[in-house]
Amino acid sequence: MQNVISNYIAGQWTPSTGKETVEIINPATEEVIGLSPLGKAEDVNSAVQAATKAFLQWSQTPVIDRVQPLFKLKMLLEENIDFISTLIVQENGKTFKEAKGDILRGIQMVETACGMPSLMMGEALQNIANEIDCTATRRPLGVFAAITPFNFPAMVPFWFWPFAVAAGNTFVLKPSERVPLTQMFIFELIEKVGFPPGVINLVHGAVDVVNALCDHPQIEGISFVGSTAVAKHVYTKGTSSGKRVQALGGAKNYMVLMPDASMESSVKAMVDSCYGCAGERCLAGSILIGVGEAYSTLKNEVLKQVKNVVTGNGLDSKTTLGPVISKQAKQRIIADIETAIKEGAEILIDGRQSKHVSGYFLEPTVLDNIRPGTLMATKEIFGPVIGLMKANSLEEAIEILNSSNYANTTSLFTNSGKAAREFSARVSPTMVGINLGVPAPMAFFSFGGAKESFFGDVKVHGSSACEFFTERHTTMIRWFNEEGDQEVSPLWKN
Ligand code: NAD
Repeated sequence: MQNVISNYIAGQWTPSTGKETVEIINPATEEVIGLSPLGKAEDVNSAVQAATKAFLQWSQTPVIDRVQPLFKLKMLLEENIDFISTLIVQENGKTFKEAKGDILRGIQMVETACGMPSLMMGEALQNIANEIDCTATRRPLGVFAAITPFNFPAMVPFWFWPFAVAAGNTFVLKPSERVPLTQMFIFELIEKVGFPPGVINLVHGAVDVVNALCDHPQIEGISFVGSTAVAKHVYTKGTSSGKRVQALGGAKNYMVLMPDASMESSVKAMVDSCYGCAGERCLAGSILIGVGEAYSTLKNEVLKQVKNVVTGNGLDSKTTLGPVISKQAKQRIIADIETAIKEGAEILIDGRQSKHVSGYFLEPTVLDNIRPGTLMATKEIFGPVIGLMKANSLEEAIEILNSSNYANTTSLFTNSGKAAREFSARVSPTMVGINLGVPAPMAFFSFGGAKESFFGDVKVHGSSACEFFTERHTTMIRWFNEEGDQEVSPLWKN
């Protein structure tokens, strides 16, 4: 019998008050590797009270001292990188190499947040009016919370809390109930680095915990990452109770191949984008558009490259494609492939029948003749499925991809600077790649899409983190002389 994992509240490992649990399943073996408690509003309230209590002192701790635990955490994360990567593979299914990328990107967030003394600096201007100066400073607000998805168990929580706490806020994290073990271990490391109790808290659960976080009057802001339906729900619920909310949703990512591109390396980058992390990336390519004569080259190259894909357990070094997260996800993807065929797609490679007898494996699938407006062209599949489309011009390709309700990422493969410039200027997705399959902005830039892929005003990490996790204050200053008159500098006397 597996143990039920605990919350981490006020520096203590605390059992959840929720009695129901969710099985944490290794998607490659179908083995139950833990039990996640479905927490209740009481758990959220305990964590928020601890965070509120810690805020008073933490917000007044000098910023240079607030980042010291993060420096220590970076070292501990690096020392334990293989162990953390193994945990990610076991609960998420991605390959060991992909898992290492997941935690490495997380470490880069910690490194960037260590720069908070510079990031948080304000502005000042002397003599904005006669003998009056003005300073603009950033202040922490209080308690923040993040609700995160299953697909990046290590990285996504690091998009938020290191920046929030370095800026002087306190924090409650709710990881995905499907992959909480990576965060359990990371919190064991957090416990060692010297944050005062209550500064960073962990609460497990699903719907009830999410709703309690959205409604809690002592939470100032919420960061959400997950599907569009839940992103909308969290954005609406959180903002209606007066919170700052940034909610990142799903995606449908198009990539375009021009006839002048470096064909082999471009198509390799496109295929890696579609099948990497089993297609379960918000930046995963989904529809590949070949422009003009590039279309037949695209099709032939994709069929050639698919032969290199090796499905298997992510801990096996030969594996390039791990399982999808759950049995339900596998069934949903198979149903989507069936609908695509009914809607006129031609199946060039059928991955519905996996050679593996256990585990939630799908072999890679390639569908051709995808038409705009069909399910394959519009719905996030979140699995190892490529859809091929033809466009007669770059203009037409841009029109097709801009018609999507989502706008997370898109890439163009070309050797023409003119085409690249035009593409980048005209596409709706806000994270654009030129000859890159997964153009994920790094920690020191900001991340986030548009349309149904993002709800809110302020993107995540980079300079946006400071914007989201602080309040701007201005102070206007005037001094009088001993007589109570305003001193006028000789500079301004005529
Ligand atoms: P999900 O929406 O099912 O779950 C995300 C979080 O919401 C989890 O913590 C979960 O417990 C909670 N949740 C789920 N259902 C809920 C409900 N009905 N009410 C309240 N809370 C609920 O998403 P997922 O399956 O874990 O992750 C995959 C999705 O995340 C994909 O759509 C993917 O595109 C998206 N994603 C987006 C980005 C981005 O940057 N835009 C990044 C990563 C993942």
